[in-house]
Amino acid sequence: MQVFFNTEAKMEIIKIMKFGGTSVGNPDRIKALIPLVTDDDTKIVVLSAMSGTTNSLVEITDNLYSSNVNEASEKIEALREKYHQVVEELYKTDPFRNTGHELINSHFDYINNFTIKVFTKLQEKSILAQGELISTSLFQLLLQERNIKSVLLPALNFMRIDKDSEPDYFYIEENINRELEKHDPETIIITQGYICRNVYGEVDNLKRGGSDFTASILGAVLKVKEIQIWTDISGIHNNDPRYVENTKVIRELSFDEAAELAYFGAKILHPSSINPAREKNIPVRLKNTMEPEDEGTLITSDTKLLDYKAVAAKDGISVLRIHSARMLMAYGFLRKVFEIFEAYRTSIDMITTSEVAISLTIDNPEFLHQIAIDLKELGTVEVEENQTIVCIVGDFRTERTGSAPEIFQALNTIPLKMISYGGSPHSLSLLIDSSNKTEALRLLSEHLFN
Ligand code: ADP
Ligand code: ASP
Ligand code: MG
Repeated sequence: MQVFFNTEAKMEIIKIMKFGGTSVGNPDRIKALIPLVTDDDTKIVVLSAMSGTTNSLVEITDNLYSSNVNEASEKIEALREKYHQVVEELYKTDPFRNTGHELINSHFDYINNFTIKVFTKLQEKSILAQGELISTSLFQLLLQERNIKSVLLPALNFMRIDKDSEPDYFYIEENINRELEKHDPETIIITQGYICRNVYGEVDNLKRGGSDFTASILGAVLKVKEIQIWTDISGIHNNDPRYVENTKVIRELSFDEAAELAYFGAKILHPSSINPAREKNIPVRLKNTMEPEDEGTLITSDTKLLDYKAVAAKDGISVLRIHSARMLMAYGFLRKVFEIFEAYRTSIDMITTSEVAISLTIDNPEFLHQIAIDLKELGTVEVEENQTIVCIVGDFRTERTGSAPEIFQALNTIPLKMISYGGSPHSLSLLIDSSNKTEALRLLSEHLFN
């Protein structure tokens, strides 16, 4: 038997460049990407939807779910109009403007279809996918008008999640490489962030902010030299700039530190986006499209330790407190508690235990009510919603002294409801009422970073 090897050289992608919503937020911003993507490196350009679009699409799907068809139609037409305006400003020549207008109409006619049909989860996902499908098509058309060689690879042909909603790396690697083989290295490859297919082949997505995750997954399967996340700020800051003034950029972070910040609420990165890069040890750089010369933040496997690096906060947390005399001296009690969470496929963020009580937090309230009912079999249960986890990232190795008191001193006016320390050498987390979040973040900046 003869064995044939595919000797054709694979296209080696040097970097992934992901541009978020504001980086494609208006025609001028989209045009400003051209000098950034036309360097000599082979690359995949991952685009988000134009800023505000996914939010509008969510509102439209909400209207359709509640059979509010008139309101949905009004929003669809308003968004269609906005995009026709974008097309007018984006292209210089009539043939490209005409193609752009046709493209916009085809997407919005498709969305409009759903105003007359029964509306399901599957259709919701198809509507949410339109933002990235439009932004990538508009950008590729722009490069075409400027005679820049590019190709649009549909993410729906290679990006897939498995039955646990985790990336199907094997499938993605095989299929992206098959797609890449068709193109030559000078071509700029463009694809959609966020969107994917699920295990049934249906259109799905990687959750809000998921374009970062797309970039990291692609970077990992293609083993690129660098994954670049381009956004509207020059890298990761030491606190959330939406709530605190005078935050400062952090130039270097480790994968573990960045993953912790992303997971605990730093909006600049999707919660799971560091994992694929960390797995394959691929540097991630965060850059600002408005200040491309700024070096931003570099995330790698080795960085210098600092007492405190950054603070992040995650809202929408619920806490469940279980009190049970049966827990006293008993083994197997925690297993029974965890089995209930497992049955509802709900993950636990923070946990603290005492002799007869256990407190747990979750960020997905979908089954909160049912979980509480099942837990009542084990003891008395108290539920509190509208909680926030504040995570402080720094040097919390167990042999160190002195860092926890500084944090508690800084927050001595804020009621602390849970404390998680010792679970990770680089973070300490606290649970507070969401109403105290802004003040807590401000106090931490004042005491730890000034
Ligand atoms: P994109 O649309 O490019 O994905 P995002 O809005 O998702 O951008 O993320 C960038 C925003 O994240 C910033 O404008 C900033 O307001 C917010 N942000 C929250 N926490 C941080 C932080 N620690 N450092 C930098 N930006 C942060
Ligand atoms: N457009 C999607 C969102 O707004 C994905 C992203 O921007 O990363 O969530
Ligand atoms: Mg984002």
